[in-house]
Amino acid sequence: MGMLEASAMQAKATNGDGGDSRITSWAPATGERLGDVRVATKEEVLATVARARRAQAAWGILPVAERCTRLLRLRDAIVERAEEIVDVVSRECGKPREDALSELTIAVDLLTYYCKRAPDVLAEHDLPLHLFKHKRSTVSYHARGVVALLTPWNFPFVIPMGDVSAALVAGNAVVVKPSEVAPLSMAKAKEIFDATGLPEDLLCVVQGRAETGQALIESGIQKLVFTGGVETGRKVAAACGANLVPCVMELGGKAPLVACADADVERTARAVVFGAFFNAGQACISVERVYAHHAIHDALVARVRELTSELRMGDPTAGTVDVSAIALPKQIDVAERLVKDALDKGAELVIGGRRREGPGQFYEPTVLAKCDHGMAVMKEEIFGPVVPIMKVSTEDEAVRLANDSHLGLSAYVFTKDRAKGRRLAERIVAGSVVVNDVIVNYGVAEAPFGGTKQSGFGKVHGDDALRDMCDQKHVLSTRVPELGGEPLWFPYSANSYKWQMRLVKALYSGAGIVKRLGKLL
Ligand code: NDP
Repeated sequence: MGMLEASAMQAKATNGDGGDSRITSWAPATGERLGDVRVATKEEVLATVARARRAQAAWGILPVAERCTRLLRLRDAIVERAEEIVDVVSRECGKPREDALSELTIAVDLLTYYCKRAPDVLAEHDLPLHLFKHKRSTVSYHARGVVALLTPWNFPFVIPMGDVSAALVAGNAVVVKPSEVAPLSMAKAKEIFDATGLPEDLLCVVQGRAETGQALIESGIQKLVFTGGVETGRKVAAACGANLVPCVMELGGKAPLVACADADVERTARAVVFGAFFNAGQACISVERVYAHHAIHDALVARVRELTSELRMGDPTAGTVDVSAIALPKQIDVAERLVKDALDKGAELVIGGRRREGPGQFYEPTVLAKCDHGMAVMKEEIFGPVVPIMKVSTEDEAVRLANDSHLGLSAYVFTKDRAKGRRLAERIVAGSVVVNDVIVNYGVAEAPFGGTKQSGFGKVHGDDALRDMCDQKHVLSTRVPELGGEPLWFPYSANSYKWQMRLVKALYSGAGIVKRLGKLL
């Protein structure tokens, strides 16, 4: 099938192949029809959330350790049926089987991590109080209820399943609306979940488009985790605001890679090529721009060119490939527009720069040199296999340019001096900065993952994400026998104000107890 035909079919799918009530999944690497799913109506979304809520009522009262024991069955089932999952993800995204397997690996590792940590992280604990010494203060964690996930097409297994794990371990039920571009991966996950014997309605999947997502936001859910683009994120956050639904926004990225004068050229070049072309650049943590110190710039560009020329691209079901297909024809249009703009403004095409004719949707891995911030390719999220490289005079200049972005999800620094790497990392504004490695940060289960600036807010992964799947409850009681009243209660008198003022001065003034003791009480 030719590119145009595939595009037409994809457009048809988006507009509702067989009517708006069904979505067809097409293999971007071959144009083959993989299957289709039924779009949930608004009433069905409401009914699904109601079923999930009933299932959660029984699930949320189980002890944390018991939930974890039961959920490890899901992990075992995922590992057991790994080949099936890899097949679906690889075909639906046109990505190498290795990449589909990494999705699965990270997903099961996250589930394992949450199960290991949850009994401690979600345990009720006393807070030592510095002022109210006579009180006992306890914090406990309670499932929120129904958590909804709106997820993108680029990692259709690990993104939903990581958050599904955190939500379920914390005692919630989950309703996922996958992207219409890759609906089958989550359908497979649901099929596997149902076979584990866990209550079916704890994990629900509603298929659909933007309207289905909106219906979910308005369905009475207790929390939403949205992963997607900045512009959609604005609409989703607004809808969450209108419904007072707490939300996590995991949005786009424009990760800079700073290559210092002392960076190892071979490792840096390999990192640029992997970081930029992994998943064909369709990752929020992709290397989207490189700032290379002039001392290594030419050697780096030459080696990046060589390594890029060796990459294999094509149908992952037909043999080993490195570079994925492009999920959506419009992403190829974006790459073409950004490359043209850069070349018009003086960039040099080092390699690539063309869409590939023939079956499937592919764009050649493309390297641009002589780039600067006047070019859109250095500012806009590319989300395709294009990496622009800019020569810089100093590492300070590289940091300044790295921070000259409306996005701040991930960043990478390459240097042989690890202490310097950490110092530069401190100065780069991003949710995560990795020294001498790329992409790996998403797979570190312990670490919070999320962005700053317009890359979003809130975190997934790590202990805080697990706690954030819960409502925190504070219970305050008294350690000593209560009197008939408290000094600050009614009735106020002439002395009440004086008494409080004396206390403030005694505690907090320059000569007060706090200052004299050198610590708070
Ligand atoms: P989109 O923003 O287009 O879509 C994300 C999800 O939201 C999809 O399920 C989509 O459904 C749904 N959606 C779209 N419009 C609405 C709406 N108005 N109301 C409710 N839901 C809606 O993102 P993409 O799928 O195109 O993914 C690519 C983007 O995701 C990139 O910008 C990338 O950087 C970002 N991303 C961020 C990550 C992070 O962790 N920070 C990780 C991975 C990707 P449908 O597809 O059916 O339209």
